Amino acid sequence: MTALTAPQFTNETAAIAHLEASRWPDEVNCPHCGSLNVHRMAGKTQAGYFLCNDCRDKFTCRTGTVMERSHIPIHKWLLAIHLLSSSKAGMSAHQLHRMLGVTYKSAWFLTHRIREAMKDENPTPLGGEGKTVQADETYYGNSSKRAKGYKKGHRHKQQIVALVEPQGRVRAVHVKTATAETVRNILVTNAHRTSELHTDESKLYVAVGKEFADHKTVEHGINQRGYYVGKDGQTTNAVENFFGQFKRGMVGVYRKCEEQHLQRYVTEYEFRHNNRTGLGVNDTMRAETLLKGIEGKRLTYRRPN
Ligand SMILES: [Zn+2]
Repeated sequence: MTALTAPQFTNETAAIAHLEASRWPDEVNCPHCGSLNVHRMAGKTQAGYFLCNDCRDKFTCRTGTVMERSHIPIHKWLLAIHLLSSSKAGMSAHQLHRMLGVTYKSAWFLTHRIREAMKDENPTPLGGEGKTVQADETYYGNSSKRAKGYKKGHRHKQQIVALVEPQGRVRAVHVKTATAETVRNILVTNAHRTSELHTDESKLYVAVGKEFADHKTVEHGINQRGYYVGKDGQTTNAVENFFGQFKRGMVGVYRKCEEQHLQRYVTEYEFRHNNRTGLGVNDTMRAETLLKGIEGKRLTYRRPN
């Protein structure tokens, strides 16, 4: 694990060098037009600036990333990225506000931009022939009777649908209401229909289950832990474990979350799950993947004429 005292976390010049190396491992290309015909500008006031000889526009390593319109120093961004990607349950804006010495508002902004960067821009379908995908849905929030605006009943809560490959990846989606139609959309766009589908006995999965290679169901709440293994060995343990981790983290670290931000938190847990140690990803690799994610859509390289 990279030490928190590493130069890129404490020194701005080292941080810029670190980000430049991550963004442009071979050659610097212009984030505006993709040209490789660029040069580093000379002079103290132009430090960190490049000039594109083709489109004549200036840029820095922040241009075209989630950091672009931020005044927070890059070394603080890098530290925040490292902390959010290496802490198991996440890190609140309050914690980051104290650790980075930035305002709470800045810390909040930073954590949400970093969560944006955690989004998998090119997701590939889960499962496949001979593989299993577990699907389940859960309710989130509005559960404390003392909370403002508390309403009784599931329909006032938010719902999250998750698909999990046992021992593999997860895909989790926030929906207003899980219906057979929304669940079907999530399933067919995120999982190979050649997979075997494992769910509980909810009516939501009956119709879409027929579109998959096979659909096996398990009953919920059979033993104390709420797990049950069906006669063919089918379970929904993996997806339930993911929800458990998400809910414990949300209660312990983030406490509350507004509906419009829920997907970003879901994405954060999905990112850590899909880049976990058990899949051979260490803290440094995970932070590097995340740093790549801040770049947004990368332009294809264009050779100068
Ligand atoms: Zn250019």
